Amino acid sequence: MDSKPVGRFAPSPTGPLHFGSILAAVASYLDAKSVGGKWLVRIEDVDEARTVSGAAEGMLNLLEQLGMEWDGEVLYQSRRTHLYREAMAALGGFAYPCSCSRREIEGIYRGTCRNGAKGEAKSVRVRVDDEKTSFVDLIQGEYAQNLEKEVGDFVLFRADGFFAYQLAVVVDDWDQGVTRVVRGADLLDSTPRQIHLQRLLGFDMPIYAHLPVAINEKGEKLSKQTQAEAAGPEIRTLFRSLNFLGQDPPDALLEGDIPAFWNWAMNNWDLDRIPKLKTILEKA
Ligand code: GLU
Repeated sequence: MDSKPVGRFAPSPTGPLHFGSILAAVASYLDAKSVGGKWLVRIEDVDEARTVSGAAEGMLNLLEQLGMEWDGEVLYQSRRTHLYREAMAALGGFAYPCSCSRREIEGIYRGTCRNGAKGEAKSVRVRVDDEKTSFVDLIQGEYAQNLEKEVGDFVLFRADGFFAYQLAVVVDDWDQGVTRVVRGADLLDSTPRQIHLQRLLGFDMPIYAHLPVAINEKGEKLSKQTQAEAAGPEIRTLFRSLNFLGQDPPDALLEGDIPAFWNWAMNNWDLDRIPKLKTILEKA
């Protein structure tokens, strides 16, 4: 395989970028760019109810200030719903309307509407299999789920009228030619669902690398929800990310400028040095 990798950073515009999302940005950027590949940015605003106005612009601004250059145009999921609709139609009988309310479903969905919805169907689900869906992650190793026993038929189109993340991400990664998905390990357990959809739709599976997630003393992910501070446009932000990712950046980089930082990072990036952990305690 001599084709260049295509990576991506796919933040949800629900607030400013925090350390956790910067990690995914930095790692996916270096993973693709250090070997001359492409790095795409996609704004995952498919859940329009959660979109915070101005957040996407703020994120793109920060990436620019941090010297991270994306390839091509930034895509917005909210403008691509026609593609999700087509993919859902292509699933044929594997996708079915569901009228169950959230309250009726406790725990794993047991396929109540598989053979026909009983009331007004507002959502659409996809059938899953009672077998192991597994993949080998570059950082986390082998990961497997029995989707029927552990997840159940999952939602593709939500009762509130929005397409689900699981469908949108699979369609977009394929449509954009993404070959490597580098993101936080909080999404590890979403990956078998995404692989299931890729198989049903006849899409190739990208290579996955799930990064350790930064957590605080309470075991919470550093995010807006845990009041983690927003990442600033300083070299310190980048340096801290590289350190967290096990790359052992020299302190001298803190005295230099952003181009010098990236120069060092591109030349020294080594995915194998990322700690093979799901979480790492990080003092905010
Ligand atoms: N939009 C998701 C998030 O911000 C990331 C999705 C992905 O990388 O697949 O958590």
